[in-house]
Amino acid sequence: AIDIQGLVKSFGDNEVLKGIDLTVVGGEVVCIIGPSGSGKSTLLRSVNLLEEPTGGHILIEGIDVTDEETDIDRVRQRIGMVFQSFNLFPHMSVLGNLTIAQRRVKKRSKEEAEQVAREMLSRVGLSEKADAFPSHLSGGQQQRVAIARALCMNPDMMLFDEPTSALDPELVGEVLQVMRQLADEGMTMLVVTHEMGFAREVGSRLIFMDGGYILEQGDPREVLANPQHPRTQDFLSRVL
Ligand code: ATP
Ligand code: MG
Repeated sequence: AIDIQGLVKSFGDNEVLKGIDLTVVGGEVVCIIGPSGSGKSTLLRSVNLLEEPTGGHILIEGIDVTDEETDIDRVRQRIGMVFQSFNLFPHMSVLGNLTIAQRRVKKRSKEEAEQVAREMLSRVGLSEKADAFPSHLSGGQQQRVAIARALCMNPDMMLFDEPTSALDPELVGEVLQVMRQLADEGMTMLVVTHEMGFAREVGSRLIFMDGGYILEQGDPREVLANPQHPRTQDFLSRVL
């Protein structure tokens, strides 16, 4: 579980997160929507301390990652993250991309790492691309490799920051399909997305953020069909 308590994040005197309280329990798929600059990425990046919180606490499976005593690298290994840009190593094959962190961080043997990599590639439907180089793959395939790469570390939870926003429209579906499958398998997921269909059908909860606050949250169908807060109404009227 992820337990965020009173999270505040400032960049200089720009307070971007103004007290976020959010608990995500095992198996939940929480989708986050909101206007540009509302703090969605900062919230996600704070969860695995890519951003250092200015105030508040973040507990991952009960371990306070904001505590100086916490071994943050160990906690980070339990959290997979997928970004808008796939960030694959261009000079390495798909297999190379999927094994390097396993070998360096998890200290797995080459054989074991490759076995895990092939298993994860098959989960994202790319078994036949193990030896391909990223530049020879479509954007959708590259993003599925990025998801497989995260899965190779056996995370307990996955953070997705607009994973389909950089893709051509016809490639969005294959990535959402992999994410849906992960959700069905019970992965705990925190997903920043503009894909309202995904949020409605796959999300267990939908959160609307604006100006560094969670302004509204609830069952995705409820929030999308019947938003309560004027800012949510305004946002949805522009995107739906
Ligand atoms: P988008 O939908 O455009 O991705 P977002 O909701 O993800 O927006 P954030 O990226 O979290 O928004 O940014 C929130 C605010 O924090 C913005 O005003 C942004 O300029 C500021 N910000 C984010 N990262 C930094 C940084 N490293 N240094 C300074 N300011 C930052
Ligand atoms: Mg963002």
